[in-house]
Amino acid sequence: MIYLLIGIITLVALVLFFKMGSLFNGLPVLNYHKTSVNDSDFLTVSAAQLRQQFAYLNKKGYKTIFISELLGHIEQKKPLPAKPVMITLDDGYRDNYTVLYPLLKEYNIKANIFLVAGFIQSPDNKHIAPNPMGEFMHVEEAVEMTKDMVQFGLHTYTHQSYSKLSLPEIDEDIKKTKHRLKELGIPVQPCHAYTFGAYNQKDDNKRVAMFELLKQNEIRLAFRVSNWVDKLPVINPLFVSRIHLSGVFPFWKFKVCVWGFIKVFNRFEKIFK
Ligand SMILES: [Zn+2]
Repeated sequence: MIYLLIGIITLVALVLFFKMGSLFNGLPVLNYHKTSVNDSDFLTVSAAQLRQQFAYLNKKGYKTIFISELLGHIEQKKPLPAKPVMITLDDGYRDNYTVLYPLLKEYNIKANIFLVAGFIQSPDNKHIAPNPMGEFMHVEEAVEMTKDMVQFGLHTYTHQSYSKLSLPEIDEDIKKTKHRLKELGIPVQPCHAYTFGAYNQKDDNKRVAMFELLKQNEIRLAFRVSNWVDKLPVINPLFVSRIHLSGVFPFWKFKVCVWGFIKVFNRFEKIFK
């Protein structure tokens, strides 16, 4: 019995390896949140962890790409570098500027940050929203980062879940989000990341209507969190997979994320616990 189980597991692992991994035309999109000089937790990755991860990507020949490069590939068939990987961070915490940004420059790593527009700090804080989530970046810090290593996308106005809003409310939220970022002078890509990683997984009709709404608002790329790797070219640019990268992961788990098998691994880990 145990040999049968090991056989099945090996077979599934091999099939997935040849179908999914970043070496086989898949695009690993890593999803981070907070960064910290010393600390790490579920949503926070420390500077030491980032150094180790960025050094690994460089050593193994992975090339980090911007949102604009993925869009160029999807829409105009522009070639991507071999072994592409996307670094994304959600929310727009201030530590992305103070901790992450110097490391991006040091390791020549490109990152894409999805901003909660209402939480960005500005000199007059006009249109700023009450923020229960932590310290967010200042407008001039955001603008500075776009000069080299960072591109930005949208992540709602106050981090509401689109699964809980009506379509007209979502429409208003996208418009408000785009408006504040424009008012602040922060250049953004036509790209959105769903808060809480997902959008209406159960209601197919509402999901299709949501995609239409994004298109009407000139959003051409959107990310969820599924812990899978999508193969290139992506089938639906408004529902691209990302992999949650936690600060509690040991380094070898980071490698499993980049290879694209973390979901399979997590399943096995649950079975054998
Ligand atoms: Zn978020």
